[in-house]
Amino acid sequence: MNLIEEIKQLKTERNAVILAHNYVRPELQEIADFTGDSLELSIKAKNVKAETIVFCGVRFMAETAKLLSPDSVVLLPNPDAGCPMADMAAADAVAAYRAAHPEAFLVAYVNTTADVKAHVDLCCTSGNAEKIISELPEGQEVLFLPDRNLGGNMNRKLDCKMDLWPGCCPTHDRVTPEMIAEARAAHPGAKVLVHPECTPEVVAAADQALSTGGILKFVRESSDKAFIIGTESGILHRLRKENPGKEFYPLQPEMICPDMKKITLENVRDCLKNMAPRIELSEEILREAVKPIEAMIARS
Ligand code: SF4
Repeated sequence: MNLIEEIKQLKTERNAVILAHNYVRPELQEIADFTGDSLELSIKAKNVKAETIVFCGVRFMAETAKLLSPDSVVLLPNPDAGCPMADMAAADAVAAYRAAHPEAFLVAYVNTTADVKAHVDLCCTSGNAEKIISELPEGQEVLFLPDRNLGGNMNRKLDCKMDLWPGCCPTHDRVTPEMIAEARAAHPGAKVLVHPECTPEVVAAADQALSTGGILKFVRESSDKAFIIGTESGILHRLRKENPGKEFYPLQPEMICPDMKKITLENVRDCLKNMAPRIELSEEILREAVKPIEAMIARS
C-alpha cells in the first residue's frame, strides 16, 4: 500500500477530516478534505462533525480548530510548525497591556496563540479585518495585535488610529516596493496581488491587498490573464490548478514560510496512526479563548 492509500485508510478508520491551509505543501492540499484560509478553516472546524481533525497548517490554526471543536481530537502532524508572528505576542505581555489600558478594546488577528486569545475582546482574519474594524464604535481606544502591518494597513484604509503591537510576519514583512517595481518591469501588464501582512508601502504599490481566499476569488473572477503574487508561494498550487488559462509569477521566489512547509505526508500518516501529537488546552483556555473567535464568526 502506498503512502496516500495508507493515509486514506487511516482517515476512514479514525473518522478523520484533513484541513489544510493554502500555504502548505501541494501534496497535502491534494489529500485534504478542505483547503482554505484562516477564516474558511475556522468556520469549517466549527461545522465539522468528525471525531478527529488533522490540521495541516501551523499551531495557532490547530488551536483555533480545537477551540471551535472541543470534543474532537485535533492533531497537528508536526508539533514544530509554529508561527513566528504569533510568538511575537506573549500572553503575559498582552495581559499587562490590558491592565495598563482598562478602557482599550483588544482586537487580535487570528494569528495569535490560544493563551493570547483568552485576553482579547475580538478576533479577525485578513479576510474580514476591514469589516470587523470598520464596525467598531467611533472614538473607541483599540489595540490591534500582533501584526503591525495588517493593523497599519487598516489604519490607513479606514482612517482610524488603532495602537499597533510591534509584531510582523517575517515572510511578508521583507517584501519591498522596489521588488514590485522589478516584477512589473519583468511582467508588464500583470496585476500585482499582495497580502495585507505586507507593509503599507508595499500595499500602496500593489494593485490589490487580499487574504489568500480573497486572492483566489479575485483571480477566478478577473478577466486579466497574468498575476504577480505577493504572498507565501504555497498558494500558487491552487491558483494554477483552478485557473489553467492564466499565468502566475511569484513576486519573490523565496516567499516561503518555513513553518508552513514543516508538515509532510509521512507526518500525516504517523499522526493518524499514533493519534498524536494532539492539541491540548486547559478548560480555562477552552472557555475564554473561544469567545473572541465566536464573536468574530458572528460578525463575519
Ligand atoms: S506565513 Fe507568516 S503569519 Fe503565516 S504562519 Fe508563516 S510566519 Fe506566521
